[in-house]
Amino acid sequence: MAKRDYYEVLGVGRDAGNDEIKKAYRKMAIKYHPDKNQGDAAAEEKFKEAAEAYEVLSNADKRRNYDRFGHQGVNSSFGGGGASAEDIFSSFGDIFGDGSPFGDFFGGGGGGRGRSRGGQRMRKGSNLRIKLKLTLEEIAEGVEKKIKVKRHVTCSPCQGSGAKDGNSLRTCPTCSGSGQVKKVMNTMLGQMISASTCPSCDGAGQIIDAKCETCRGEGRNLEEETISVKIPPGVAEGMQLSMNGKGNVPPRGGIPGDLLILIEETPHESLQRDNKNVIYDLYISFADVALGTEVEVPTLTGTSKIKVEAGTQSGKVLRMRGKGIPEIDGYDKGDQLVHVNVWTPQALSKQEREVLEKLRESKNFSPNPGKKEKGFFERMREYFQ
Ligand SMILES: [Zn+2]
Ligand SMILES: [Zn+2]
Repeated sequence: MAKRDYYEVLGVGRDAGNDEIKKAYRKMAIKYHPDKNQGDAAAEEKFKEAAEAYEVLSNADKRRNYDRFGHQGVNSSFGGGGASAEDIFSSFGDIFGDGSPFGDFFGGGGGGRGRSRGGQRMRKGSNLRIKLKLTLEEIAEGVEKKIKVKRHVTCSPCQGSGAKDGNSLRTCPTCSGSGQVKKVMNTMLGQMISASTCPSCDGAGQIIDAKCETCRGEGRNLEEETISVKIPPGVAEGMQLSMNGKGNVPPRGGIPGDLLILIEETPHESLQRDNKNVIYDLYISFADVALGTEVEVPTLTGTSKIKVEAGTQSGKVLRMRGKGIPEIDGYDKGDQLVHVNVWTPQALSKQEREVLEKLRESKNFSPNPGKKEKGFFERMREYFQ
């Protein structure tokens, strides 16, 4: 078949500017888009032809060669078998950028752009959402959880068709099997063809005369399934993990939706999380900080001993390196921060009172903060750096 003139294909003059060429191509692409003209070979041919013309005319060098030498002048990638429609889709980004009114138009909404081999649109099932409670220990280490979910899975006797057997299925007369009905709209850019789900067959493309007895024609059954989920270390409350294809299969066949797992953090009884660090409030007696001691503190991996030097002030933060939570997808690991709180006795025996009365006037007992002792505000500043 002889090639048509590229200008003729796009319906523009030989002196057309880039904008005019782009507009003309956009118009053709919408009109002949295979999504909107399913099974129409002539439309697909026009669509490819327009894409080829646009590829040449939108490129200054190729256009110049074409103007001088005609089709021989452009050693285009479309020679031979021609580009497949799928190749052309991938080049759509530049003329229909995000946010253009065509994004929705081509996306079709909901089901996405999945296609089966026959060119019929694949429908995607709904997502499943579950909440998953994790302890801080599980978050720090990462954990594998077995979750029971009830999900719609493809009916095995009918393989999702919903029909009793092969003879109980026939092509839907309303949409001729495409699952979609087309509507022509007149817009500023010319005629646009929009497609919506066929009401006769609900988008399946086929009508069932005798239903499968297991699923009663739905093509899917609700089943309980135990799914193993690997939770990486470092997740946090409110994060959502997604497992592709573990959601519901749509009625009468298609791609299953996803399983969305919402993370919930169970509060720890003595440790508090602050991003990748964990904080522990240590209450210690005045005698212990004055004399120095070693105390046992809980951590996310069992208890651990920590040294409290003689003379440690209340409010000091002791850092236990690497005892916190790993960053998700990172190499860094947080620390455990031990806040020292010196415990002031709230009741005193007569004997204790006598000892303290003696110490009250002692020189070492009167506060004498030097540069070394950081006050509350300085510690806060350090903390938030
Ligand atoms: Zn139909
Ligand atoms: Zn069935």
